[in-house]
Formats: sequence, structure tokens, C-alpha cells
Amino acid sequence: METKIVAIEGTDAPESIREKLTEAGNIIKRGGLVAFPTETVYGLGGDALNPESARKIYAAKGRPSDNPLIVHVSNMDDLRKIVKDIPPKAEELARMYWPGPLTMVFEKTDLVPHETTGGLDTVAVRMPLHALANLFIGFAGGFVAAPSANLSGRPSPTLAKHVIQDLDGRIDMIIDSRGADIGIESTIVDVTHKIPVILRPGNITQGMMARLIGDVDMDVTVFDGDSAQAPRAPGMKYRHYAPKGELVVVEGAPEKVAAYINKQAALHEAAGERTGVISTEEQLQKYKASSIKNAGSRVDTMIIAKQLYTFLREFDDENIAHIYSECFSNSFGDKGYGQAVMNRLLKAAGHKVIKV
Ligand code: AMP
Ligand code: MG
Repeated sequence: METKIVAIEGTDAPESIREKLTEAGNIIKRGGLVAFPTETVYGLGGDALNPESARKIYAAKGRPSDNPLIVHVSNMDDLRKIVKDIPPKAEELARMYWPGPLTMVFEKTDLVPHETTGGLDTVAVRMPLHALANLFIGFAGGFVAAPSANLSGRPSPTLAKHVIQDLDGRIDMIIDSRGADIGIESTIVDVTHKIPVILRPGNITQGMMARLIGDVDMDVTVFDGDSAQAPRAPGMKYRHYAPKGELVVVEGAPEKVAAYINKQAALHEAAGERTGVISTEEQLQKYKASSIKNAGSRVDTMIIAKQLYTFLREFDDENIAHIYSECFSNSFGDKGYGQAVMNRLLKAAGHKVIKV
């Protein structure tokens, strides 16, 4: 299949944007697939109400079909058509954080096919903040099922070129535009329980939600790689965000972390295996390895979040066999944004953490 790549700039004439979005929307309405930017990561969109579109999404990504998709809407009226009930706490979260990087899990109505929800009677819904994403959803008929626009198992795409690397030739269209300023996927919170449960941490943190609606739980599988408890959502059982090289997270006092990583890097490099490091700006000068990425200052979690997936893809391109990363939150127990970054990093590392 030939993939049409369409560039849209914020400075384009409104008629030109409308024309391109009409074409993109019509592809979705006819059952095709279009990748589009959002504020979190690029999404791979299909008609959420069309079972055939869901099947195509799974095929294009090479993703198991029991891994449910997030349905993207652009307004609250459309939300009411696809969910049975909007609990008061969800109303409050929506008032505060929608449109934005928050996904909520509700009981679904019959309008949403089981193909979209991986067989579940619940549906995950998000209203994106990104202006182009929001417009696109409207042109596409209002309900766009969209997982991240990467091949299954690869890091989520934060640039159009990542989408092209993974999906060129597999989908109908890629919208190339600015986006993904956040750089990691939305927070997912299940609001069907009395006490809402975070299934995936993100930019909207546990602390932010708790201040608004009281207690919010964190699913045990979020940080515990070998939890005996079965995952609550099918998607949670899959390894995600993985680079090709072996990734290890190193935790401890900064000097000890640098000393350990340098020792390992020297051993690997001596054996002819290229080694990469994800370092805070504060430690950058201390490392010796083939590839050293600057994750920004320790005190700014936003910057590492925005760049993490780009780093993982760059390591792949640079044939890095071993990757070592510093930790980006002082304690896994904090209720801030560091949780989301550490969750992605630990998943990419298959939960390999070394304490020094
Ligand atoms: P992605 O689309 O790649 O950002 O991943 C979507 C993730 O959302 C899935 O892997 C699931 O973990 C989660 N999800 C989607 N729908 C549901 C649902 N109905 N219940 C629980 N989790 C869901
Ligand atoms: Mg994904």
C-alpha cells in the first residue's frame, strides 16, 4: 500500500488545512488508517465504531488484538454516546483535565464494538488537547480509535519520522505536523471503581487527581515487573517501549552510578559492543561510552519525558548493544511526574534495575 504523507503547518491557510483534513477524515470514514500528531505521542487512527478498522489497526501495528484501543473524541456530547455512565469523579476530572493527556476507562455502550475494546465491556476514552488532533477527530466522524503509531514493541513515536520508519507502506496516510510536546502516552485512570485506579501513569499525575477527587489508587502492576497479580487491563501484560539493546536502570548516589556505568561500559566496549548512556545534565561530563544522551537537568522531568523515546530509537539506529540509564525520580513512591517517566523507563528495561 502506498502511504500518503501530508504536511500540515500551523501557518498554512485555513482552506488548505480544511482540505487536507477532509481527505484524512474521509479515509477514516471509509475504514482506512491515518496517523496523526497529538500532544502525547503520534496516534494511529481508525474509525472506533467500525470493527474492520480495529482489525486493520492491529494488523498494521502487528499488535495482539486483545490489547484494547483508546477512543478519541472531541467533545462531551460524543462521550455520552459511547459510555453508559459518567461517574461524578470522572465529570470533575474531565472538567479540569480535558481536553488533555488523560484517558478514562468507562462502561461502554453497544455503539462501541468489542473489536475496539479488545473484547472488554469497558472503553478507554481521551479528548486530546492538540488543536489539529481535535479538528481531525471531527472531520473523521467523531470517534477515532488510536493506539500509538508505532510497530508493536517499539517505542512510541514522538516525531513524524518515527511513524514513517515504522508504518510507511502499512497505512493510508501520515499527517506530518508539530506535536508530541509531552512525549509519553496519556495517563490512564479506570473510573468504574469507587476509588479510581491508575492503570498507566502520565503527565496528569496521581497527586493532581487526588487533590481534585480524593483517593486515587495505583495499580500494582505499574511498578512491579513480576507482580503475581493478573493485570487489570489486557494491554498491561505486553512488554512495551523496548529498544533493541539491553537497557538497565542504575539507581544510587550519583558518583556511584557514574562509576558503575563507566566500568560496565569499558567492559562492553572492550568486547566490541557499543554502549549508550542516558545521563542527567549534571552528570554528563562523567561518562565514557559510544553514545551519551543528555536528558536535561535532574530537576526537570518534563525534558526527559519529551526525549526518552527519541533516545531509545537513536540507540537502535546507532547499533547500541547495552544501554544504561540513570534514575529520574528520587523515590518510586512520589506522586509526581517522575512516576510516569520511571514507569516507561522500567518497562523499556524489562524492570532490570541495579542498585549501587
Ligand atoms: P496505546 O494505545 O498504545 O497508548 O495503549 C493503549 C492502552 O490503553 C492499552 O494497552 C491498555 O493498557 C489501555 N486500555 C485501553 N482500553 C482499556 C480498557 N477498556 N480498560 C483498561 N485499559 C485499557
Ligand atoms: Mg503504544
